[in-house]
Formats: sequence, structure tokens, C-alpha cells
Amino acid sequence: MLNIGCHLSLSKGYAAMGDTAVNIAANTFQFFTRNPRGGSAREIDPQDAAALAKLTNEKHFAPLLAHAPYTLNLCSADTNTRMFGFTLMADDLCRLEQLPCKLYNIHPGSHTGQGVEAGISQIAEALNKIIRPDQTVMVLLETMSGKGSEVGVTFEEIKAIIDEVEWQEKMGVCLDTCHVYSAGYDIVNDLDGVLTKFDKIVGLKRLKAIHLNDSMTPFDSRKDRHALLGKGSIGLEALARVVNHPGLKHLPFLLETPNELDGYAKEIGTLRALYKE
Ligand code: FE
Ligand code: FE
Ligand code: ZN
Repeated sequence: MLNIGCHLSLSKGYAAMGDTAVNIAANTFQFFTRNPRGGSAREIDPQDAAALAKLTNEKHFAPLLAHAPYTLNLCSADTNTRMFGFTLMADDLCRLEQLPCKLYNIHPGSHTGQGVEAGISQIAEALNKIIRPDQTVMVLLETMSGKGSEVGVTFEEIKAIIDEVEWQEKMGVCLDTCHVYSAGYDIVNDLDGVLTKFDKIVGLKRLKAIHLNDSMTPFDSRKDRHALLGKGSIGLEALARVVNHPGLKHLPFLLETPNELDGYAKEIGTLRALYKE
């Protein structure tokens, strides 16, 4: 079965997201741990968490993804921003221990002029301070499009970060189709080649989730503009090959397309129809 879901809002609580997912034929979902611009997180109601755990068990959900706020930047040139990131991420990881969600997706960071090398070192250094050996949550580095001074754009950069992390078994990767295509990995004409490269450099075993998005901008544009499936430069055929690829088809796929719920429901239906068991 295709494991697919979309980004949902936490505004009505955790179990409510599970119910919404079921209503749109999703069997996974992603949510922001708190306001995407940062800020304080709500206390987790244990009954709410238990209700979501019950639902995800009963409905055999694929792994859920928590997405860190966009303000998290572990390699900012500004020390206060980095410190804010430490505190926020450590708090998120603690809170996730109370939820049936064991994947925490982060944007590796933007080096804000310090250079990629310095960025990689700072990210790894931060992760080494934040990750605890007893945590059950895995940190996923999301592949980025290359806008601004983003780090984690090439597979080599992702690998270099993971290499410097002490608790490597707590590290994984989330591949965003819009981002990799914008970063110059041609998943439209050479999906096999891109995945072979990923496997050689990072290792496919580290890949734990896919953000499934079309792109508003052309190949190698280094922009980050998500499009509806089939309405962008990647196209529905190429995205159908992604969900059906033998190296990927078991993974959770999360839509981050510019949609309301009915739009997500439609895209989930389209992909389920295109999926070959
Ligand atoms: Fe993201
Ligand atoms: Fe993404
Ligand atoms: Zn994006």
C-alpha cells in the first residue's frame, strides 16, 4: 500500500490530525511542532497523544513526521539565533517522546555568509549537543533547494553533516522532490541515476521519508516554490515514477503542495490510483 499523507495543522490537537488524515484517505501526515515562525509550544495533553497513538495503531499508519519551525537555523552567523535553535530543537525532541511520532525533520540551516564548510561544522556541533543517546526520535536532514545560503543542498553536504555527528544511528534524511530538482538533481529524466548517486554518497538506508511536491520553477533554478502535482516542472508522470520506485515505494510520502484539505484529498486519490502494488 502507498504510504501517503500531507502537511496538516496542529491547531485542533494531535488526535484531530489523525482523524483528518483518515478522512482524506491518508495513512501518515506531517505537522509543525509549533508555529512555523517559532515561538512557544503548547503543552501536550496526554489523552490527546494517547488517542492519536490508538488511531495510528488501529489504522496501521506509516511513520508520522514532525517538521521543525523555519526559524530553526543551527548555522546562523548570529550566536543568539543558533542558541535559540538549540533550545527549540532540544525541547521539540523531548516533547516528541510523548507522541507516536519518531521522525523529526529539520532544514539543516543557512550559513548566512559563513561559507558551506563552516555551516556544516556548526550544524554537526549543534546536533552533537542536542541529540541524546536515549532518545527514540530520529532527526531527518531535509535536502534543500539551494536558495540563499542554504546548507544541505548537495548529497555530499548532507553526508558531511552526518559524518560529524556522534550518534549516527539517530540521523536520517528526508528527500524533497521540489528541492532536489531545483538543486540540479534530474529526477525527471534520470531518477535511477539520482538515487544511485544518493545511495553511493549518503546511503539509501538513511532515507526515511519523501516530501512529494511539484516545482513552480525550472530544473536547477535554486528556488523553493512548491507546485500542485502535475502543475509544475516535474510533472505527474515523473512523480508517479518516484512513488513506484523499488528503492522508495515503502517510504512515507508527504505532500507539501499549495492546497487546502480537498486539494490534498484529490492528490492522494490520484497517487493511490497511480501506485502499483
Ligand atoms: Fe521543509
Ligand atoms: Fe519539504
Ligand atoms: Zn520547500
